[in-house]
Amino acid sequence: KAGSKASVADLPMLAKRSMPLCMSNMHTKLVETHHLKHKARNQFGLFLKGIGLTVEESYQVWRSNFTKDPAMNAEKWQKEYAYGIRYNYGLEGKRTNWTPHSCQRIIMEPGTNAASGEHHGCPFKTFDEVQLRAQLQQMGVAGTEANFILDKARGQHYQVACGKYFEAKHKGTTLIETEISGISHPNQYFEKSNEFYEK
Ligand code: SF4
Repeated sequence: KAGSKASVADLPMLAKRSMPLCMSNMHTKLVETHHLKHKARNQFGLFLKGIGLTVEESYQVWRSNFTKDPAMNAEKWQKEYAYGIRYNYGLEGKRTNWTPHSCQRIIMEPGTNAASGEHHGCPFKTFDEVQLRAQLQQMGVAGTEANFILDKARGQHYQVACGKYFEAKHKGTTLIETEISGISHPNQYFEKSNEFYEK
């Protein structure tokens, strides 16, 4: 239903269906490596808060994935990572109700280097062409649409590339031609996708 909040159990489905590439990439890396570094925890964590996960549900997502690493257990996780989640929800420190980062902020964030295990950032900027094409293909986007996206990424029009990616994954939408020139916020992408499926 419209405005319904995401649930933890639905995350794998939502990652494939309704998350923009930045967030589905971080979700994949979290599941595959049982870890995300600080900046990715911040970007993906605030995104999860933005799609409606409560602080308890966020604990569940991060803890269940991190503790799949044999070097991590629930107690250690609690000590090292629970604070950061509570902080994002405004329950620690300055008690600021932090908002999810915009595309502009994510695109400008330095230090994205997958080789050193950094998976934050906008993939349309941080992935090289081979990697981006493979990633698009994996998400079912190929052919002329993939070419268009790669062309926009090459020209540093990352948010337009993302808008086209949305169109390619939501057949019949004409986001970048009629509605908006590009995606401005990962949570906007997510909400638009949900609207599409809830129609
Ligand atoms: Fe994420 Fe925005 Fe980049 Fe799209 S344009 S992948 S929503 S940062």
